[in-house]
This record gives sequence, C-alpha cells and structure tokens, in this order.
Amino acid sequence: MITKFGNESTKPTPFATEILKALNEAKQIHPEYPKDPVHMVAIMVEEAGEAMQEANDILWDHGSVDNLRTELLHTIATAIRCLDQIDEE
Ligand SMILES: [Mg+2]
Repeated sequence: MITKFGNESTKPTPFATEILKALNEAKQIHPEYPKDPVHMVAIMVEEAGEAMQEANDILWDHGSVDNLRTELLHTIATAIRCLDQIDEE
C-alpha cells in the first residue's frame, strides 16, 4: 500500500523524515505538552494559523513556500502531540 509516508516495501520518504524532525525539535523545545484537550488543540490551531498567515503572504506579500512548509510541519507535529496525549489518557 502506497501512502504519503512511503510504502510497505521501502523506507519512509523524506516527507516522513521531515515530520519526525519537526516533532523531535518541538519536543526538545517544549518537553511538556498540555494534557487538557482545549489547550492541546489550541496549540495546534495556533500553528495552523501561522500556516494560514504564510499562505496569505505567498498570495499577497511575496511570502515563501519554505516558510509555509515549516508551519505546516509544525501543525502536523502538534497534531501528533495531541494524539500522543489523548492516547496516554
Ligand atoms: Mg510555527
């Protein structure tokens, strides 16, 4: 089965490596993550808002795709941290 993360017979794509790198960096910078659902999701939504800002900047203000990519990876990393927290409960 082929997915965005690679397929069963090959190693993960660089895409998955980027996500893991963003996740590890986030955990180093902020080892603790909120346990209550509102605060944990709020952090993810904040990152999604930053991605939206970068998208707006690309359209209207000469923004960069690299910056958008970074904020999308932050959003994914915080979504994974949310999943980690709810799985711990
Ligand atoms: Mg960010």
